Amino acid sequence: MAYVIGASCVDIMDRSCVEECPVDCIYEGERKLYINPAECIDCGACETACPEQAITVDRLAEATFRDDNRRFFEEPLPGRTTPLGTPGGAGGLGPVGVDTPLVNAR
Ligand code: SF4
Ligand code: SF4
Repeated sequence: MAYVIGASCVDIMDRSCVEECPVDCIYEGERKLYINPAECIDCGACETACPEQAITVDRLAEATFRDDNRRFFEEPLPGRTTPLGTPGGAGGLGPVGVDTPLVNAR
């Protein structure tokens, strides 16, 4: 289980969730943020911090965005040849600056 960021984050990206995450597993695309399901410890701190109610636990999340959050890490992003994988911390990696095809199409 992991938490999932949904559609209401697109073009908002105020990063309130990032500041609350104890394991730094919320990564920044170009227009949306994504939670790494392999790194999230399911603490729920980000869910209450989000002013857009964009974050839900995965069993309640819209399936499209649950799968899309996973794809951000497990499949090569547009313009890349390898997947992001599990970088071990968003702060060290910095903004990824790319979104999934689903988010690009919105
Ligand atoms: S549930 Fe906790 S660990 Fe997972 S992304 Fe949110 S703040 Fe980070
Ligand atoms: S707090 Fe919500 S709207 Fe703000 S960046 Fe995080 S998920 Fe997106």
